Parts: sequence; structure tokens; C-alpha cells
Amino acid sequence: MSQSESYDNTHRAFLQALIARPTITFAEAQPLLALIQTSHNPDRPVLEGDITRADFDHYVHAVNNAISSFDMEIRSTAHQSNRGVEVFALVNTASDALTQMATVHSADEIAFVKRVLDCMFETNNTRKREVMAVTSWQALKLTKVPDSDRRESGAATQQDTQTQNAGITMQQAEKVLRLLVSESWFECSDKDFYTLSPRALMELRGWLIDTYNDGDNDSDSDHGHPHEKIKVCMACREIITQGQRCPDPTLRCPARLHSHCVGKMWRAQGGREVCPSCKKEWKEPLPVGEKAAKRSRQSGSMGGRRSGVSGLDGADESD
Ligand SMILES: [Zn+2]
Ligand SMILES: [Zn+2]
Repeated sequence: MSQSESYDNTHRAFLQALIARPTITFAEAQPLLALIQTSHNPDRPVLEGDITRADFDHYVHAVNNAISSFDMEIRSTAHQSNRGVEVFALVNTASDALTQMATVHSADEIAFVKRVLDCMFETNNTRKREVMAVTSWQALKLTKVPDSDRRESGAATQQDTQTQNAGITMQQAEKVLRLLVSESWFECSDKDFYTLSPRALMELRGWLIDTYNDGDNDSDSDHGHPHEKIKVCMACREIITQGQRCPDPTLRCPARLHSHCVGKMWRAQGGREVCPSCKKEWKEPLPVGEKAAKRSRQSGSMGGRRSGVSGLDGADESD
């Protein structure tokens, strides 16, 4: 198919479609672009199979050129829990997702979201257990502002000091969580764990590293070396919140791999299935993500909304 260099109504329609939906894959873009091109030129109907990856890349490139001066960019990342499928999203390059959420959520709601993120990346992300997810039950326990945060004003946004950290109701919290899922900031697994979506990881990459890898030596530090909370996959260098970690029994090795990146890593190492960092055999790797969560006895029951998962309060971190 011939593609002119110009930016025409089909590009505008494609951008409109991206604005209307939080994320898109190439497979989802094929029928969309076929429809857009057909309605642009009804005499030459285009089938979805006619839309090649090169056509799609051309659209992404052209739209990115057009929107860059508005601090917007189409970015892509691999979906960690969906076999590494490439996901595209329109990302705001000038402000992070928390700032954008502040346009539709109250300061107390944003402070709640920040507590949920702290729970994901601090409480539930220790050397022993890199869960990086929260259950809905656990999230709903975060509606109140902890006393320590109230005193130290260390909670979330600048607005906190004005609102005196009022906290929010359970109903508000449930609404916020539902919205975050419907807007593709959070995903909720079938085991009832909230995680950051590919879109959120793209938007929040810099913020997460700045916020949680501050280099402070806290209780989780390793003989004076800070334990970095946000880690990247050694194959693709993207943030990892679900995947595998080195089976090193001392839990000191920093190597992490997305499940969809493991094969790529072994090919890059000439077929040697050893840790790219410490060179131990990569046998029975430890999980990163909800599989790392400690389960209660009745964990097999009914999705676990009220009863399934316990031991996520960080109290098990006594090493
Ligand atoms: Zn990776
Ligand atoms: Zn290792």
C-alpha cells in the first residue's frame, strides 16, 4: 500500500481513536485503520489483513511528529502478564500520571492512590517478596491516613498540607479503584491483585524510580547498600513488576527477567541458561509479582476478596 508523507484525515482519525481509548495493540489497530482508510476512500476498500506492521508504524511515526509539540507521544511497552504483547498508549510527556489524575480526582483521593502505590512498591516489595501488587482488601484498608504520615506530612502531594490528610471513605476508595482500572492505570488480576498497567508503567517510569529508588538506607538495605525497589529486566531494560528473579538463595543477586524476555536472554547468551549477573544456573527462578505473595490456608477460595490472601503487611520481613 502506498503511503504519502502527508498528514491527512486518516491520521487525525487514528489520533482521535487513541485519545478515546487508553491503549491499543497492533492487532486492534488493524481493523481500526482498515475502517478509517476505507471511509476516507470508499472506492478502495481496505481489509484489516491489508494493514501491515509497516503501515501501523508509519501512522505512529506521523502522529508522533504531529503531537510532539503538545507534550504527547505514542509509546509502547510489552505487556508483562500477557505474553509480552506490545501495547501502545498516548502518553503525556510533560507531567506524570499522578499529576494528570489530580485533574479529575480530589487531593484526598490522590493521596489514597499514593498510599496504594507505597503499599505496592514498599510494603509489598521486600527482599523476600517482590509482590508489587496489592489485593483489593488491602487497598481498602488504606482509606485512612496513618498517624505517622499525619504527623510527618510525608504522605503524597503538596495539597496534603491543605487538606490535613482527611482520608476517604470505602465507597470513594472503591470508586477510585474502579476508575483506575477502567482508565487502564491499574489492572486487576483474577486473583484480585491490583498491579500497574503497561500504560501506567510507561507514564510513571521516571516517577517510580525517583520516588522509590531514593538510595536511602532503610530497614531493607543490604549491609549499607540500598536495596533498589524498582528494578529493570536485564534483557529489555524495562521496569519489571511481574516475572522472574535469580534463584540465588541469598536473595542478593539483582538479576530480574520478564517471562517473555527469558528466551531472548538465553539466545543472547548463546543458549546458556544462567543468570546474566551471577552466572548461577537459572533453575526454578523465584517469582516477581503476585505469585510471590504469601498465601493463607484458604487461598484457593473464591477469588480471595475477603479471605484469600494474607501476610502482605510486611511483617514477614525480619531478615
Ligand atoms: Zn524484559
Ligand atoms: Zn543471579
